[in-house]
Amino acid sequence: MTVNATTTSMASLYDSADLTSLSWLEQRWVAWYLYFDDPVLATGLMTFLVHEIVYFGRCIPWIIVDAIPYFRRWKLQASKVPTPQEQWECCKQVLISHFLVELPVIWFFHPMAEMFGMSTYQLTFPALPQMALQLLFFFVFEDMFHYFAHQALHYGPLYKHIHKLHHKYSAPFGLAAEYAHPAEVAILGMGTISGPLLYCYLTGDLHIITIYTWISLRLFQAIDAHSGYDFPWSLQHIVPFWSGADHHDFHHMAFTNNFSTSFRWWDRLFGTDDKYRAYKKRVAAMKNATKEQRAQMEKVLLAEVEADGLRAEAEVVRNAEKVKTT
Ligand SMILES: [Zn+2]
Ligand SMILES: [Zn+2]
Repeated sequence: MTVNATTTSMASLYDSADLTSLSWLEQRWVAWYLYFDDPVLATGLMTFLVHEIVYFGRCIPWIIVDAIPYFRRWKLQASKVPTPQEQWECCKQVLISHFLVELPVIWFFHPMAEMFGMSTYQLTFPALPQMALQLLFFFVFEDMFHYFAHQALHYGPLYKHIHKLHHKYSAPFGLAAEYAHPAEVAILGMGTISGPLLYCYLTGDLHIITIYTWISLRLFQAIDAHSGYDFPWSLQHIVPFWSGADHHDFHHMAFTNNFSTSFRWWDRLFGTDDKYRAYKKRVAAMKNATKEQRAQMEKVLLAEVEADGLRAEAEVVRNAEKVKTT
């Protein structure tokens, strides 16, 4: 089906398809597009709903974890558990940004998808192995893009006017994953969306269902990285090059290290994880201390790293002032 959906009634686009051979999900897909009979509205609304349902659906378990003291033993900065008030304030800001900034932009999603030759209402869905390879490419591409763009956002004026908002929380929590300036959402969001667009442009073979899967996985990654918890079963203990909460929590606390999202290799390659690795080494050296001694030493270490981070942040803001006055 290659007819331009914007100029034709939706029902006629499925005339030649054998709807009985479709999977349950594919049948729901057809029903969705037929119900709205407007592909721009159907794709726009679905994109927005996928984002909202996955974002808040993934944040809710972390809100519950924060409310249960039993889980504090795995909290990375145990003395900084967000209060319900803080979570609600953050949630309100995220919702405002979703409705006022992301929703209008998402409405351009269908026209953009058609421009790049992406399949939207079309069937059938891609096979799982093909989808897995595409997802791997998107993960690697986004991580690379984010590493460099995030470092640029730590440059004085960009930090002061854009990225500082995201660093409001030195001990992040799930909901804070998308707590950011609209310009930051746009800049870093390019890393999420330009991988699929580039892939589609080069191969001409990409279904929007793969993008929804990608966006869902990327949201899981971002929310979990901001969760503030490192469990023994967290993915980074199974896949050693996965960043996880341990890696990104340190970025919020220490300010200067760990700029990537999903993987650790770029920070390792460019040495932007030196302070993080030194800190981990000192924590590991405490293994023979008693539980109380360890908790006390960890507290001192965390305070040192945080004080360093605050100094580094103040310096970036001071430099931004200098740029302004010269
Ligand atoms: Zn940052
Ligand atoms: Zn963050």
